[in-house]
Formats: sequence, C-alpha cells, structure tokens
Amino acid sequence: MISISHDRFATSRIELSESALRKNIRFLQKQIGTEPLFSSVIKGNAYGHGISEFLPLAEKCGLRHFSVFSAAEAYKALSSRTQDSHIMIMGAIEDEELAWAVEHGISFYIFDPGRLHAAVQAARKMDSHAQIHLELETGLNRTGLAGAELESALKYIVDNRSHVRVKGVCTHFAGAESVANYLRIQNQIERFNAAVSYIADKGIYPELRHTACSAASLIYPASVMDMVRIGIAHYGFWPTEETRIHHFLRYQNNPPRRFRNPLHRVMSWKSRIMSVKHVPAGEFISYGNSYMSTRDMCIASVPVGYYHGFSRSLSNLGRVLVRGRRARVVGVVNMNMFIIDVSHIPGVERGDEVVIIGRQKSLHVSVGSFADMTNNLNYEVLTRIPPDIPRVVVP
Ligand SMILES: *Cc1c(COP(=O)(O)O)cnc(C)c1O
Repeated sequence: MISISHDRFATSRIELSESALRKNIRFLQKQIGTEPLFSSVIKGNAYGHGISEFLPLAEKCGLRHFSVFSAAEAYKALSSRTQDSHIMIMGAIEDEELAWAVEHGISFYIFDPGRLHAAVQAARKMDSHAQIHLELETGLNRTGLAGAELESALKYIVDNRSHVRVKGVCTHFAGAESVANYLRIQNQIERFNAAVSYIADKGIYPELRHTACSAASLIYPASVMDMVRIGIAHYGFWPTEETRIHHFLRYQNNPPRRFRNPLHRVMSWKSRIMSVKHVPAGEFISYGNSYMSTRDMCIASVPVGYYHGFSRSLSNLGRVLVRGRRARVVGVVNMNMFIIDVSHIPGVERGDEVVIIGRQKSLHVSVGSFADMTNNLNYEVLTRIPPDIPRVVVP
C-alpha cells in the first residue's frame, strides 16, 4: 500500500521559526517590562501562521494568554493548547455560545448590555460565573460601552456579583501605528483612565487594565498597563514603517555601528518549481498579453496562485528566490500558479526550492516588500494565506 501524508501533497508549505519567536518575545518584553501580562493575539488564524501550530509553539516559548476574535477561533485555540493557557474573545460570540465559554473558563469582551445579561443568565443556570472584560468606548467608535450604557452595565454587575467576574477593563486605539493619530490616542488614554476611576468608584476593581496593541506598546508607554495585546510584532513585523522608524530614532544621538532589526520574521513560505521551459523572443507569456518575451527566455512555473493567497496584483511585479537569486513574476498570476523568469539563473530544474516569503542564501523576501508591491497592509497579506497550507515548526 502506498501511503502519503496530506502535507506531502501540498504545493507549498509554511515554516514557523521557534528561534525567531523567542527573540521577538524577548525584545518585546524588554520594551514593556516583565510586569505586564503578555497576551498573544492569534485572531485571523494567528495572522496566517495557523492557530493550531502557532499556539503550542507560543506556549513552548512561555506565553500563557491568547486573544482571539471569535468563538470559533476560541474553539480552535482551546483544542490546540498544550498548557492551561487562558483564552480571551475580543469580538464575536453568540448568546448560545456563552454557556460554552463560561464552562471552559474563556473570557470575553462585553460591549453591549444584551450580551452582559445573556452571559449572567447562562452563568446562573450553570451555577458558575462569566469572566468578562468591559470594553470601553474611548474614541475608536467601533464597539465599546460609554455613558448611560456603561452606568447600567456596572449596576447590573454589582447586582449580579456572584455570576460575573470583571477580569478586565479595556479599550482599543484608533491607529496607534500612525503619528497622524497622536492626539486622538492621547485623548483615548485620558478617557480610559478617567473611566477606570469611575468604575472603581462603583466598587468594581478589574484585575487587568489593557489597552495596548503592538504599536502602542512600542510608542506610548502610558498605554502599557496590566496586560498588553500583541499581534503583528511578535510575528516579527513592524505595524507600520512609522513604528520602525520611531524605534530606530531613539538611537539618534548614539547610533550603533550597525542597525539590527530586533524583530525576526517567524514565517517563511516555500514552494518548488513545477516545470521549466524555454520561450523564444516575441511570445506572450501566460494568459493575455501583459508580458511579451523580449529575448529567448527560460521560464519556470510555481504551483501557487491567487487561490493560495499569492495576490493577482503581484502579476508582473512579485519577486521570489530560486538558487539564492531573485526571480521576477512574468505575466499574470493564475488561480493555481505563477510563472517566473529564470533566464539569468543557471541550472534551474524541477523541484528546486522557491522562497515566496523568507530567506535563501544571502537574500530575503519580506512580507513588507510583498505588501509594498501590492499596496496591501502586511496584516492583510499574512491573513490571506489560506489555512490549508501545511505549517511546520522549525528550530
Ligand atoms: C488585533 C488586535 C490587537 C493586536 O494588534 P497588533 O497591531 O497586531 O498588535 C490588539 N487588540 C485588539 C482589540 C485587536 O483587535
């Protein structure tokens, strides 16, 4: 009998680097100090890294608190964990799912009174308590409690103390990664602190005040409280170019001999060449007429397309690495493959490794360059990588 694993059949794979993640966590902990709890944000399938593979790796690196967007992601996180890690839902959970969350000790945001009432009722039925985080409206104007809603929520909590525990009080910033939002963020921090005092006046003292995402943790020390919610940075990416520059500006008066990027890309994405062929001068390559060979060319096909998250907007623009050299995408990206020009790389053959994101010999392709080429945020590029590409952990 011939047996072959599903992973062997995949046309590309993603490697997660344990050493990169360890370095990122160490760097970030140095920035925020060791006191605040580090919540690893793993929404969006762990920013494309894969919840099932990333969460156990993060646990191995010492993290014990994970933030997801939805109950479905919490379910995945719960079944992936190898330690008694805490899981927090920052967004969607249906009323019918609340009992499940209570049963498994999963905490969740409260940003409207309806969910609060449903959670308390579910907990009362189970003779247990719901673990909640009060999300405060401080200026993002997306979700969050303020004014009369907050007041009535607090009263409801006081009246139902035995079935609800206020684990946290939190808010989210309206773009901490851009200087243009500086004043807006300052106002949010002020409003948040005022609301926390107001809540304390009502006799409610949440364990964890948390507001900071990656950018805020790196730029606004006042936003680093009892817990930080770190996503993009621990995967090894700066939230924006501005945050990267902000970090390096601190060395302005004392520049090091060499600037080392303290963040290391956890993910690499690799495939293999499917076929190699020659095309004479004057031929259009792939669909349509967006690319014509100007000389005799050697081209290679890579079995990754827009179906796999390799955006069609990388047509005639993308770059990958083959045999330690850069190769450019020629023609349009197809659903399941793209074509590269390998005329300048001697000896390319079927089966050669193709690096889509990551390093090969001395060169590397960053998600940032990928993102720059297509005008996408690196957040978007990452989360578009489909969940069914196999993820493997490497040292
Ligand atoms: C996504 C998210 C974060 C993490 O943001 P990063 O910029 O990736 O660090 C933190 N808090 C909330 C509420 C989020 O939705």
